[in-house]
Amino acid sequence: MEKKEILKEFSADSDRYYKVRLFEEQGFQRKSCSKCGRYYWTLDDSRDTCPDDSDDTYSFIDNPPTSKRFDYTQAWKQVEEFFVKNNHSSVSRYPVVCRWRDDLYFTIASIVDFQRVMGSKVVFEFPANPLVVPQTCLRFKDLENVGVTGRHFSSFCMIGQHSIPNEQGYWKDECVDLDFRLLTEQFGIKKEEVVFVEDVWAGGGSFGSSLEYFVRGLELGNAVFTEFQGELGKHTTLDQKIIDMGAGLERFAWITMGTPTAYDCCFGPITNQLFEKIGIDSDSKLLSNYFTAIARNLEKYDDLLDVRKHAIKAAELTDDQLNRIITPLEGMYLIADHLRTLIFAISDGALPSNVGGGYNLRMMLRRIIGTIDRMNLKLDIDELVDVHVDYLKDTYPELDEKRQDVKTILKIESGRYTESKSRMGKIAEKLKGRGREPTVDELITLYESDGITPDYLKEINILSEIPSTFYSKLSDLHQSEKKKMIEELPLEGLSETEMLFYGDDPMEFEAKVLKVFDKFVVLDRTSFYARGGGQEPDYGTIAGFKVIDVNKHADVVVHTLEGGTPNQGDTVNCKVDSSRRLNITKNHTSTHILNSSSRSVLGSWVWQHSAFKEADHARLDITHHSSLSDSEIQAIEDKANEIVAKDMQVSIKNYDRGTAEQKYGFRIYQGGVVPVKSVRIVSIEDFDIEACGGTHVKKTKDVDLIKITRTKRIQDGVVRLEFVSGETAKEYVKEHQANQEKLKAEQAAKEERDKIRDQKKAEAREKIPVLLEQISTSQAGSATFDEIEVKTTDSGRFCFTSSEQYDEFFHLNFGKKLAKQDPKSVYCGVFESGPTIRAIVYSGEEVSITKNAGTIAKEISGILGGSGGGNATFAQGGGKDTSKKDEAIRKAKSMVLE
Ligand SMILES: [Zn+2]
Ligand SMILES: [Zn+2]
Repeated sequence: MEKKEILKEFSADSDRYYKVRLFEEQGFQRKSCSKCGRYYWTLDDSRDTCPDDSDDTYSFIDNPPTSKRFDYTQAWKQVEEFFVKNNHSSVSRYPVVCRWRDDLYFTIASIVDFQRVMGSKVVFEFPANPLVVPQTCLRFKDLENVGVTGRHFSSFCMIGQHSIPNEQGYWKDECVDLDFRLLTEQFGIKKEEVVFVEDVWAGGGSFGSSLEYFVRGLELGNAVFTEFQGELGKHTTLDQKIIDMGAGLERFAWITMGTPTAYDCCFGPITNQLFEKIGIDSDSKLLSNYFTAIARNLEKYDDLLDVRKHAIKAAELTDDQLNRIITPLEGMYLIADHLRTLIFAISDGALPSNVGGGYNLRMMLRRIIGTIDRMNLKLDIDELVDVHVDYLKDTYPELDEKRQDVKTILKIESGRYTESKSRMGKIAEKLKGRGREPTVDELITLYESDGITPDYLKEINILSEIPSTFYSKLSDLHQSEKKKMIEELPLEGLSETEMLFYGDDPMEFEAKVLKVFDKFVVLDRTSFYARGGGQEPDYGTIAGFKVIDVNKHADVVVHTLEGGTPNQGDTVNCKVDSSRRLNITKNHTSTHILNSSSRSVLGSWVWQHSAFKEADHARLDITHHSSLSDSEIQAIEDKANEIVAKDMQVSIKNYDRGTAEQKYGFRIYQGGVVPVKSVRIVSIEDFDIEACGGTHVKKTKDVDLIKITRTKRIQDGVVRLEFVSGETAKEYVKEHQANQEKLKAEQAAKEERDKIRDQKKAEAREKIPVLLEQISTSQAGSATFDEIEVKTTDSGRFCFTSSEQYDEFFHLNFGKKLAKQDPKSVYCGVFESGPTIRAIVYSGEEVSITKNAGTIAKEISGILGGSGGGNATFAQGGGKDTSKKDEAIRKAKSMVLE
């Protein structure tokens, strides 16, 4: 639907769509802009252009239209006070990680807080009506503008003013009246300064009129009246009309402070501290001129670089001033902005990574570090985190609790970046050699596959400027990934299956067959748990046929059968495999226990990423920055079994979704979004509270035991815990123990063998004199003395042994003594020593010419793949090729004895 068409239609009947009571009471005039034709409402007789086309645009810089000055946190106090005084509930912000919508990673507008997707429809759930909320919103599309334009942030606070027109809430007249009074009464802006511009809003199948309100060209807020649905002309009025007024808190602060940029008044003391650290000698007149020129030209050029060039000229900046003042300022603003966003995101459980929404966070931290490096700054990120949190904690006390966790994550992530820099440097070198700059698509690939940011490439002069489309393209790529596939089955007209597993949960029951198609059966009621929330389905039989799968399609449970199907209309007997179910149930409760155990051991950033529960094994994937150490695994397992031993009550209670969210917070969405109005809350006392549709044991002791069998880092930022519980865990422990015992027994046997061997060797040493005596007096012919083969002939006495009972000490001593005592004798001992086979050879003076010790040792070594050394009378050698041991022994023996 074209917004332009709707606007044309609405503006043609402005009395109906735009003329509110305030305009009549105060005497606002409706005018058409002399430059662009847009319609706007004003109390200023002399005004003839819309805020975008007026000369007074951004004239609040250096000259604010209010007598009082409010910085960021003070401005919220003003807004909150005003709306609370006017019967609004002030609601705490929702997480910036949008866990209640599976099409968004981050909260991008205050209205998103209250949107819940049911099927293809978006419904609104308000915890109060009317309400205001200081909602932190994350937007990454304009990252290149941050720090440069004076008004773009990667995260900002959207003041959400929301109302449903009913007994408590209000509609257009009251809304515009409140917004006008907020500006004039609470902030003291002159009535004539406020301009309302006619506009429309359309999205998600609905649309409505809107009034944007401006002061001196700065759009402060936009009141959207979502009223219709369908195609223009054929549209109908929504059952649930909604007021969605969103205003930028940063801009409220800016307009009262009149600083050169919105950054100067929104980051608290961090800006001044950075100013001092960097030592920027700022000239406020120059800055005002420069940033006013930036602000006024931003819409006029497509490319930010042109805007910047123009502003440099308009403010008459010299190159020196640009390098000395503007460039460092931009870097400083970027650091403050990106760090604030990271603090919110990490506090709410997001981790920088290379997947999903984590991409943007990693990118921002790398930009911070890149800027610090480029400017050669000595900044302590921990200190900066403290300054931010101290400033923000009044409005957002939850940031204070997560302070340490934020620092931990930033430290780990910074370390990774430093480590990857040398690899990045090599890739960058290759790029340099190509002689052309990378395209936007190449830049995206470089970032996605190697973590190389364009800022880094700019820093090392491979890229002259970052293409303005880079960040929006990257952000689009990762926005659309979060989509789901829906399977089509012929289930129209079937009524909701009665799910007995949420009631009495009988393991045997009768049911009526409502529909049969292919191998699928739909019953009127079932106790077969349908696959969902990572819990695997029940098996069993329906009318004697095996049930091999069970799935839920909306509210209809579909059973997959094997071997045949009953007839439609039959009443059938159904049996659930209860032991399988029990095992799965134990594993499911164990998953919840492990999830919270992991969080308490590792840190608040741990969330369930996904889970899988089968009968004999299960796994839980958690968000965590690194692989788990053995001691961490042990600590998690100990914590889990401590919870088991405490025999805590597992209770299940249904809540209205809004109530559950308000009562327990968004921690309940561990297993993802719950697309129903009533939320089933499974709580293990106050240790673990989750929205969950699975089956659970009644008390934690029922799971008996939890054993983590394996852990693995499966993707950046996600660690998998494989585990078993119940009987399987006990068996695992038994098996594990049996294995341990077997290993122990083997170890003991080996030690025993070694001991005996050592004893024998010691004994052998003592035998040296006796053996010497026996061998040197032996008669001609062949004989064996204690495994030493001896051949005595006229030409000499030749001895060889490869007995295991002799060691190096024996061979050296025995051989030496024998050769000395009898110069016609030769001795060769082959033995194992560690991983090598060695030989020691002695040859007496009178036989060393024919039986050269060196030659023999060399030959043996050659066979064993090693080397030998020595002389004709004494030599040794050996090698590591143990497979050649027998061959070496044969050769040695023949060389000595034959
Ligand atoms: Zn205009
Ligand atoms: Zn669960």
